[in-house]
Amino acid sequence: MNIILFGPPGAGKGTQAKYLVKKLNNFQISTGELLRDEIKNNTEIGKIITEDMNNGKFINDEIVNNLIENIIFDPNKKSRLIFDGYPRSISQAKNLDLLLANSNQKIDFIFFLNVNKETIIERIEKRKILEHRTDDATNTILKRYDTYMQTTKPVLEFYSKNPNFKEIDGSEKIDQITRKIDILLNV
Ligand code: AMP
Repeated sequence: MNIILFGPPGAGKGTQAKYLVKKLNNFQISTGELLRDEIKNNTEIGKIITEDMNNGKFINDEIVNNLIENIIFDPNKKSRLIFDGYPRSISQAKNLDLLLANSNQKIDFIFFLNVNKETIIERIEKRKILEHRTDDATNTILKRYDTYMQTTKPVLEFYSKNPNFKEIDGSEKIDQITRKIDILLNV
């Protein structure tokens, strides 16, 4: 089963992705984590993206699209993918459709974790203390939210027509969200 977790930064996509990975024995594709690894490993891509990442800006589609391509075509991971933080633009959504079609796969569910700005700021303030992410400064959080609203909202409209699109109240507790996902998956 391939699942897209969709929602603003701090909506709990990463937490639910990790739950689904365990439950379904799937693999998480977190473009945020892949990009942070590039920076940590000081790769050529890492050097190019550091400034934009720290400023809460989106990384260009070509870089992100290239990062996920090998994972999608990995036969061990076929139809066992949990997308966390991808796609984030219409161009990425169209690219994903193409890659999945070319590898004979489909999207089974799109879970939209819907959360308001106040809850997100509260949550990321907490995460800042726990995880020390350099892009979690309050200013950056607000920029990331605004970037999300501008660029990702059209993706929401793109997917909301899909019969497998399910909106979930992301301001609820982690366990409650997990329970709702379980019910929708019916597995
Ligand atoms: P995340 O861990 O998903 O919150 O992503 C952290 C940061 O990585 C974002 O603020 C962007 O700078 C970058 N990023 C992650 N995923 C994408 C994506 N699909 N497209 C562009 N930039 C991304």
